[in-house]
Parts: sequence; C-alpha cells; structure tokens
Amino acid sequence: MREVKNYIDGEWTEGKSETIERYNPADQKELVATVAGSSVHDVNEAVFAAVKAKKKWAQTAAPERGAYLQKVAHLFEQYADELAELATKEMGKRFVETKGEVYRSAAILRYYAGEGLRKVGEVLPSFDAKNLFFTKRVPVGVVAVIAPWNFPLAIPIWKIAPALVYGNTVVFKPALEASATGARIVELFAEAGLPPGVLNFVVGRGSTIGDAIVEHKDVDAITFTGSNAIGSEIAKKAAARGAKYQLELGGKNPAIVLKDANIEFAARLVVEGAMKQTGQRCTATSRVFVEKEIIDVFRTHVMEQVRRIRVGNGMDEQVTMGPVVSKGQFETVQRYIHIGKQEGRLLIGGGASDDVGWYIEPTVFDSVSHRAIIATEEIFGPVLSIVEAASIDEAIEMANDSIYGLSASLFTNDVSKALYFIEHIEVGMVQVNGETGGAEPQAPFGGMKQSSSGTREQGQAAIEFFTAYQTISIRPHPNM
Ligand code: NAP
Repeated sequence: MREVKNYIDGEWTEGKSETIERYNPADQKELVATVAGSSVHDVNEAVFAAVKAKKKWAQTAAPERGAYLQKVAHLFEQYADELAELATKEMGKRFVETKGEVYRSAAILRYYAGEGLRKVGEVLPSFDAKNLFFTKRVPVGVVAVIAPWNFPLAIPIWKIAPALVYGNTVVFKPALEASATGARIVELFAEAGLPPGVLNFVVGRGSTIGDAIVEHKDVDAITFTGSNAIGSEIAKKAAARGAKYQLELGGKNPAIVLKDANIEFAARLVVEGAMKQTGQRCTATSRVFVEKEIIDVFRTHVMEQVRRIRVGNGMDEQVTMGPVVSKGQFETVQRYIHIGKQEGRLLIGGGASDDVGWYIEPTVFDSVSHRAIIATEEIFGPVLSIVEAASIDEAIEMANDSIYGLSASLFTNDVSKALYFIEHIEVGMVQVNGETGGAEPQAPFGGMKQSSSGTREQGQAAIEFFTAYQTISIRPHPNM
C-alpha cells in the first residue's frame, strides 16, 4: 500500500485536503493507495515553485535538459516490473499491457531527450539584404499537465517530457485513479536529479483542485487529456485569461470491413481494437461497418474471437481482459449495455459481475443503426456495435457522421479503396489493415472535430504547443 503526497519544490508534503482510499479494481478488498489530496493552497505552492524554477531551467542547455530524460528512461526500464505492477493494481489494465506502457514511456523519454539536440529555429530571407532574420523557439513558461487514468504512465510522460526538454517547468496532476503511478513517475524524475521546482506534483479530485490549476494566473499553458465535458470547460477558462491550452478528448472510432478483405484477420483486429484494455482507450474500435455480402461470415468470426477472451485479474497471465477502472465506469458501461439491448441485437456478452472486481463481459451488438446511442456516444468499455453497410461510400458516410474524429481503420486488399478511404475519412489517425489504436513516439498523435483542440502531441509536432516563436531581426551598423 502506498501513501501518495504532493511533491512541491523538491519536497514530498502531505496534501491538506481530504484523504482518499484507492482499491484495486480487480479485487476490491485490496487497498492500493491512500491519497492525501492536495488543497488549493497546495496548488498555489506548486505553481509558485514552478514559477521560481522557470528562469534557471529555461537557461539550462537543452542537451542537458534532455540528459535528465535519458536518466529517467533508464530508471523506467530498471523498475519496469514494479511500475507495471503498480499501474495494473491501481487501474486494472493487464500487467502485459502496463509493462508495454513502461517501455513505450522509456522510448518517448529517449525521443524527447534527442529533441534537446535538434534545431529550435530557422534563418529566413529578409527584404533587407544585410538583416540576419531568424526564428527561435522559446519555452512557454509554467505548464499544467492534467492526465487521465487509462494510460497512467505513457500519457503523463508524453506531456511532461516535451514540456521539460523545451524548457518549461511543470505542475502535474494525474487522474485520481492513477495517483500512485503518477507519484512513482515523479519519484523517478527526482531520483534522476531533476532540480527542485522543475516538476511539481499535486494530487486529488479534479473537482477540488482543477479550477485552482486551470485558472491560476501564473499557469501559462494547460495540456489536458480526458473527457469532452471537462476539456471544454478547461478551454473556456483558459481562453478567458489568454492561457494556451491543448485538449485531447474522446473518440467513437470506426472500422470498415470491405468484402475483398481477409475477413478472419479483420474480425481478429476489430475485436482486439474493441476489447484491448477493456475498451478503455480513446482510440478503441467501437463501431464496425461491414459490407452486407460478408456480414454473416464476419459476425461468426467476431463471435469466435470474443469467446477466446478470458476476463479476470490483469496480474494473471492467462487473463486477456481486465476489469473496468471503477464503480462509476462499471455502472456507465452497464447502462449502455442496457440501452444496446433495446437498440440492437445482443450477439454475445452483456453480463457483468462486481463480486470481486469491476468485471464486464466483452459485448457485441448486431443490427445496430449508425445513429443509435450505442453507436454515437463514447462508452469507454468493452462494447462493439456492428452496422451493415451497402458500399464503401455508405460506410465512410456513416463513419464520418460523428462529433468525434480521432481514429479509424479500413480492412481491404484493394489499394485504390485504401486511397479513397484516406481521402474521405475525417479523423486524425488513419489505419489500413490495422486496428484503430496505436501510436509511435516519433509521429504526431491526435484527432479532428471534437476529439481534439487541433494541436498534436508526440513527435516533433509537440514543439508547437510547448514553445512560443520569437522572430528576431539583427541589422549591422549603417556604416558597415
Ligand atoms: P476526465 O474525467 O475528463 O479526467 C481527466 C483529468 O481531468 C483527470 O485528471 C481529472 O481528475 C481531471 N479533472 C476532472 N475535473 C476537472 C476540472 N474541473 N478541472 C480540471 N481537471 C479536472 O477523463 P478520464 O475519465 O480520466 O479519461 C477518460 C477520457 O479521456 C475519455 O473520454 C477518453 O476518450 C479520453 N482520452 C483521450 C485520449 C486522447 O489522446 N484523445 C487519450 C486517453 C483518454 P479526477 O481524476 O480527479 O477527476
């Protein structure tokens, strides 16, 4: 059992708000952490520490800032099993998935360590031939990192690493359901020797300390990943005081299976896309549009794949799908399953059990209209809807008829149809013959429409949010 505290200006201090007990979603009897929730006063102290540290950190050479990230990457690998076990026990994802996330986080840290050696500006031509005219990327200042629980390691890292390497100081608030993992991440930065005040940590309910972070006059930028409801409130508050904000939000990601595809392969990846991490991924596949000529065969393969899934505690190697994260999520997903039974035909699953943990069966609905509630709202659970499509055009039209635009995949063996799909699908992340999830550290990640505020995370695209441009003009003395 871990005790989670604030980390402010290089010191671990007891949060001055309520104490919250956190239990393992796979086994409700196991107490994983007690969280000494931060108060508004603690947030103010954390921002003050970040302000105090920002000048010196901005003046630290970028390769030196990157070297800290290298050290943290090494520590992630050194403590891989321990980090993965903690994350699994805290939010329920399978150990094999959290361990993968540890290594992915190490790769992200190394990528951004390398950013410390890359260019931060460009020389431009000028209308004055003698003018040295160039741009320089400068830090934004104090960045608030507000993260969700579903990638408790990788999402904080893909925000904190670029923030730091580009010279910003950080106040990090993890989701309550990922508090202990968040604290462990910060411990590793401290172990790597990061100077006090550069990375500060506050913890507790967003409803208690969220506004204090977002509305703080000295927080220059807010990078947020989470729900659309919270994200849009953050956008309004940040815009009202001219702070920079970045939002990565929900998804309702479609897969399209055409009649020329390898149907068994497509069914396997669609089920994987829907059920991996118990469907709790912003990029999870939640609707699949299938050409009518192959829908019977596809349905049979989907059922075969779903029957293979073993639900249970993610620390058990035989288990292929863990619990959902919390009682709240358990109830939400069950509510959608109830709605689905009225809107479509329950093909498989639909059951749930809360005797030991928050377990929900992988569930597939068939004969669903693309306008049905279960086919339009983000469920964030192991629920897939199958929708019949008359053609690729109808499938794309239905896929695009959504407020979301995060990711989409197409299964086909016809390159012309793949190109047509890429041209017409309205999402940020496009897959052909792959599942809807998946990101790599060097590539921009993010969505269109209401899935994102428009900037991109990861890769070199991150420089756009975490820096500001300075445009500089140097003229020689007129006599020269
Ligand atoms: P959430 O409820 O919106 O919470 C996200 C973060 O915001 C948490 O740290 C939360 O703290 C905090 N928060 C809550 N109220 C706040 C407030 N008033 N002011 C400031 N912060 C506040 O989302 P979630 O349930 O953790 O995550 C699931 C959602 O994230 C899904 O919609 C999913 O699609 C989305 N997501 C998107 C991406 C992407 O890249 N597009 C990736 C992963 C997840 P508490 O935990 O204390 O409430």
